[in-house]
Amino acid sequence: MSSREPLVERMRPFGTTIFSEMSALAARTGAINLGQGFPDTDGPPEMLAAAVQALSSGANQYPPLPGIPALRHAIAAHEQRFWGLSRDPDSEVVVTAGATEAIAAAVLALCEPGDEVVCFEPYYDSYAASITLAGAVRRPVTLRPGPDGRYGFDEAELRAAFGPRTRLVLLNTPHNPTGKVFTAEELALIAALCQEHDTWAVTDEVYEHLVFDGVHTPMATLPGMRERTLRISSAGKTFSCTGWKVGWATGPAPLVSAVQRVKQFLTFVNASPLQPAVAVALALPESYFTGLTAGLRANRDRLVAGLTAAGFDVLAPEGTYFVTADIRPLGGTDGVAFCRELPGRCGVVAVPTQVFYDHQEAGRHLIRFAFCKRPEVIDEAADRLKAL
Ligand SMILES: *Cc1c(COP(=O)(O)O)cnc(C)c1O
Repeated sequence: MSSREPLVERMRPFGTTIFSEMSALAARTGAINLGQGFPDTDGPPEMLAAAVQALSSGANQYPPLPGIPALRHAIAAHEQRFWGLSRDPDSEVVVTAGATEAIAAAVLALCEPGDEVVCFEPYYDSYAASITLAGAVRRPVTLRPGPDGRYGFDEAELRAAFGPRTRLVLLNTPHNPTGKVFTAEELALIAALCQEHDTWAVTDEVYEHLVFDGVHTPMATLPGMRERTLRISSAGKTFSCTGWKVGWATGPAPLVSAVQRVKQFLTFVNASPLQPAVAVALALPESYFTGLTAGLRANRDRLVAGLTAAGFDVLAPEGTYFVTADIRPLGGTDGVAFCRELPGRCGVVAVPTQVFYDHQEAGRHLIRFAFCKRPEVIDEAADRLKAL
């Protein structure tokens, strides 16, 4: 056995994710797992039936590199219907193995080694790894809870994050893990900086339909931003099928083509029989999308009430699957220690958000709960949390 360390140096800081540890803890203790964000119910029956149909009628070989035409057309029609963005399905849409692959391919395609990526921390865990794989450097801007109980950022800190090596802004709105929906003013400021510094915007909008207060505005709809924005989304959250890994990127043809160039050597293609099913789902009537939002809004309200009653300082989310809570009123100081003890204390699993920051002290006292679960599961969790 060689004594050589197999993992390249730049990936060594990335251990196994906190989700594995906390999900294993949930399994071992029988606790309710509000750690990882996956729904405990299936997506729309029309979509599931279409997948079964495709699977049993021969859609089992390599689809075309950019995705099957039916899905690319459905993605373009969906963007037109909800966001007024018109896309050419043949040159401005590419299907990917989840939003995760789209993010990785975008960063790998757009960044030279040493280029800088502006992003908002806490961030989705694949961002730091993708940026590192590309040899690029992250320039995090910290989202902090304000006196109004909402997350915001400091304009000066954002301005200072931009510089001559800035290649792109990687923006997630609605934002995981904070549940923040970036406001029109915040987006306008980010857009102005992108234009001033001639950078790309890569936007992760997987929670585009999960907004409970306010509205979601795609960056690509702001003046001057369509030409420089790559918009990423996915079926996973919108259609409760996180295991399917069908995502996509849309944008101007040169950006989409750059992503496709890298993507073809990461996975080439994926999910042949699921692609027609997602095309069906994207064309579902308005009532599907409003029903999804209404159900999750009610779940959010249940969990926020439960956490408040348990004594947490709750940061009510405007969107997504998640709510973050401050553990200090309950005597906690460190989210990692708190989450390791939580299953033993009351049979519930949450995740500490400090692991999603470069400046971990900013999130040391914050933990995240997922509410994409059946109402009775949330009620049971809220009941158990009263033991705190
Ligand atoms: C879940 C999630 C993703 C991953 O989407 P997939 O389609 O499963 O790859 C990407 N970004 C954010 C912010 C997420 O929460």
